[in-house]
Amino acid sequence: MSAFYKWKASAISCAKCGWKGHGHEAEMGDSFRDGAEYHCPKCNEYFGFKAWPMTHELEDVPLKEDYPAGACAGSPKSSS
Ligand SMILES: [Zn+2]
Repeated sequence: MSAFYKWKASAISCAKCGWKGHGHEAEMGDSFRDGAEYHCPKCNEYFGFKAWPMTHELEDVPLKEDYPAGACAGSPKSSS
């Protein structure tokens, strides 16, 4: 798992206003080609620049867990 996803899942807190949450709850500010800046959702305190995961790391994202296994394989082929 990339550092980006680790940060997104990690507990963070704002030193300025005391907000507590996780990386994925942070407010995304300016985004760039290789990452984005994140801020406190409450007071907009700057948390830092987080680099996007590398392309090969995107494969670690469990996107397919949203779909039941075999959802595509089990669909009827009515186009014959
Ligand atoms: Zn804050």
